[in-house]
Amino acid sequence: MLLDYVTLLAAVGISAACLSGMIFISWLMNPKDSFLLTCAAGGALCGAGLLLYGFYVVSPHELIAVPAFGTVMTGLAVLVGAGYRFRTHRSPRRLVIITAVLANLVALPALMAGYTGLGFVPVNFTAAALLFFIAWQYAGARSHAPTAISGLCALYAITGASFALCGLMVAIDGRPTLAAAPNGWAEDLSLLVMIACVPGIGAVTLTLNQTRLASELHRAAMTDSLTGLMNRRALFDALSAAPVAQETAVIVFDIDRFKSINDTHGHAVGDRVIETFAQAMMRDAPTGALMARLGGEEFALVTFAASADEALRLAEQICHAFTRRAAGLGMAGFRSTASAGFAFGVAHGATFEQVLSEADKALYAAKRGGRNRVMSAEPRLFG
Ligand code: GH3
Ligand code: MG
Ligand code: MG
Repeated sequence: MLLDYVTLLAAVGISAACLSGMIFISWLMNPKDSFLLTCAAGGALCGAGLLLYGFYVVSPHELIAVPAFGTVMTGLAVLVGAGYRFRTHRSPRRLVIITAVLANLVALPALMAGYTGLGFVPVNFTAAALLFFIAWQYAGARSHAPTAISGLCALYAITGASFALCGLMVAIDGRPTLAAAPNGWAEDLSLLVMIACVPGIGAVTLTLNQTRLASELHRAAMTDSLTGLMNRRALFDALSAAPVAQETAVIVFDIDRFKSINDTHGHAVGDRVIETFAQAMMRDAPTGALMARLGGEEFALVTFAASADEALRLAEQICHAFTRRAAGLGMAGFRSTASAGFAFGVAHGATFEQVLSEADKALYAAKRGGRNRVMSAEPRLFG
């Protein structure tokens, strides 16, 4: 090798520790999600363990090897936890503790008993198993960012394979004790793999976190925070690209005299009434329908295969369900109704904006007609 083994090992350890520092700083910028903190802790432990192992290579004594590998195994167990947290959003504490205890129990006893040769077999195979386990955790979340996650899994799996190869070579060598740390071509190869993969793992981890943050922000920007429905922008994004089909119904709802609910019962009750409407709509909407809160106390429902009769019945059903639910809100004598208007796409093509505007006109006709009713738009408005 161009540079000696210990120098390169120290370089990998330092690189892992520095990457952990960077990941920790990134976590500080958004401390709500502990994924990066878990990664930073795991990476720091692995880096520290590798540096300690460097001391063992210089002066081989199991008193150094055991804490070195104990630290690496614990670091890898924490990285398993980071993958688990990424995949499930749940706390990995129990998994980390169980994995760390098991890994140390399998990896270290032979080394502790003084088998400084064959003792490296369980060490290497346990490290390999943990690295594959980490890859498996991320693989379960592949749909989040298929390319980045496949890359991350490959980096962890390649590193794991290089450890397995080291374990295999020590096993084939078969000597129970060695005067120096194992130092064959498999160890050199494993070191080269780590030099290549550790920075890659750090970079992809940060990228993944950014990708997830961006998609969470995008989801938040498209969601109405009070009801969890799509907002106006999300509905337009979903439907503006193509003309509205003839059998697609756009229904617009508006709660009647909502301002007086706010005025009489307060804004908080108004909010509960808005939520109640959203729940009634979600409950009764046909499968595949899109639902949005357009703003204030106005909602839209778009259903893709409906007749005029079906659209009318659906809108009435939702309005009645809302009135029933609102009566159960716990305010004596409280009654709230809603009005709706609906329109369909047309044969020669109309934009979603046009159909929505026709549904709106029908809604205001329903308001003028006395509220608590559903009206259809005039047919062939665009013909
Ligand atoms: P109409 O029967 O004609 O629809 O009358 P309305 O009182 O329902 O309609 P108007 O547009 O006059 O009032 C809507 C009110 O909705 C005014 C606004 O203060 C209130 N509002 C808008 N957004 C929210 C919200 O998020 N929460 C609450 N509680 N009120 C809201
Ligand atoms: Mg209203
Ligand atoms: Mg309104």
